[in-house]
Amino acid sequence: MNYDFIIIGAGIVGLSTAWQLQKSKEKARILLLEKESSPARHQTGHNSGVIHAGVYYEPGSLKARFCREGASATYVFCRDHGITCRRTGKLIVATSEVESSRLQQLFQRCRENGLEPELLSSARLRELEPAIRGSAAILVRETGIVDYAAICREMLRQFSRRGGHYLPDTEVTGITEHSDSICVHSGADSFSSRKLAVCAGLMADRLARMQNLDDGFRIVPYRGEYYRLRPELDGLIRHLIYPVPDPALPFLGVHLTLMHDGTVTVGPNAVQGWKREGYGHLNFDLRDTLDMMTFPGFWKATARHLHHGLRETRNSLWKKAYLAEVRKYCPQLASADLLPHPAGVRAQAVMRDGTMLHDFLIRQTARSLHVCNAPSPAATSAIPIGRHICSLLTS
Ligand SMILES: Cc1cc2nc3c(=O)[nH]c(=O)nc-3n(C[C@H](O)[C@H](O)[C@H](O)COP(=O)(O)OP(=O)(O)OC[C@H]3O[C@@H](n4cnc5c(N)ncnc54)[C@H](O)[C@@H]3O)c2cc1C
Repeated sequence: MNYDFIIIGAGIVGLSTAWQLQKSKEKARILLLEKESSPARHQTGHNSGVIHAGVYYEPGSLKARFCREGASATYVFCRDHGITCRRTGKLIVATSEVESSRLQQLFQRCRENGLEPELLSSARLRELEPAIRGSAAILVRETGIVDYAAICREMLRQFSRRGGHYLPDTEVTGITEHSDSICVHSGADSFSSRKLAVCAGLMADRLARMQNLDDGFRIVPYRGEYYRLRPELDGLIRHLIYPVPDPALPFLGVHLTLMHDGTVTVGPNAVQGWKREGYGHLNFDLRDTLDMMTFPGFWKATARHLHHGLRETRNSLWKKAYLAEVRKYCPQLASADLLPHPAGVRAQAVMRDGTMLHDFLIRQTARSLHVCNAPSPAATSAIPIGRHICSLLTS
């Protein structure tokens, strides 16, 4: 069957691309392929649900711009399609001297990124959030929460309504590019099109390898483990509560998140994963592990962040140590307050020299485009990322 465009992956990046492409090219024949039986089964359906305002990112970078635009576009999408979202605001709380000086830098960065943060004293923080303690904090009002899986379902509905063709349960196993077309294989089935966009999240490097585009990077899975607060504590906080992050790492630290359903989650941490799409505690996959261990960048990244990695592993294995991270800013919490909650797994592109890539990575051939790294806040930024992919596909 011939198409104008094929998109692989029904996470939020693939869906945003498919929805916007079908909307702008009404007559185009577009096929969206997904290996699972429903959309948003991996990173998009296992995240914190935060609409990030764009606090942390290098001013002027694509990541900063996409996040700001993405947050606004997400609020508009939710309003237009009746999806519940809340602009809760977020507090970044400093609990030590080092963090206080980093907080000042973050405050400056917020302003350079076009936000209107408010610097709070310890007393003002306590007034706003009686359960939270810190030497100072930044209030970012633009941050909010949403259910990204609900956004995906709506994007899929819009895409199909406009004539887009969606095939779930179809795992792509090969890609062959010709001078006049590109062919996507799934077992014995083949689909051909003029252009292809690959938005495969945790499998991005494997799909890139099908076209020899995986040179120099590998996806390394990092588990993000959560707890949730017991239901009696659902009203404990009114804002999202974040620690001051370590600038060397692409993770934001264990935070308290008001979820769209009114519950409060605690997390995520960032521990080594041994299975890319494994959500249980003891998941292991030989192929995923060998892929990682045979890549020199994995060992370099592990060595570089050894101290952090060991601390996260200890916190993962020992609930009391995990709790200690949260008690730095919410001292009233006790072990019995933390109930089990499903984990997520991040797709982190690691380069051959051990650098964890903070930014988006896109690689292209004449007829294909691979999204090789779409780290947080890619759910927030999905609408401008999708728009960017559409413009690259149609230029
Ligand atoms: C724990 C955690 C917390 C996060 N918190 C936030 C947050 O609060 N806010 C935020 O903005 N971002 C957050 N993120 C980041 C965000 O969730 C991701 O950046 C985003 O969901 C990436 O979307 P994606 O479409 O690229 O990947 P995915 O959602 O993983 O989708 C990829 C899709 O490709 C499919 N696929 C893979 N291989 C094949 C194949 N061979 N054939 C067919 N289909 C295939 C998969 O089945 C999957 O459906 C978080 C991520 C994690 C893991």
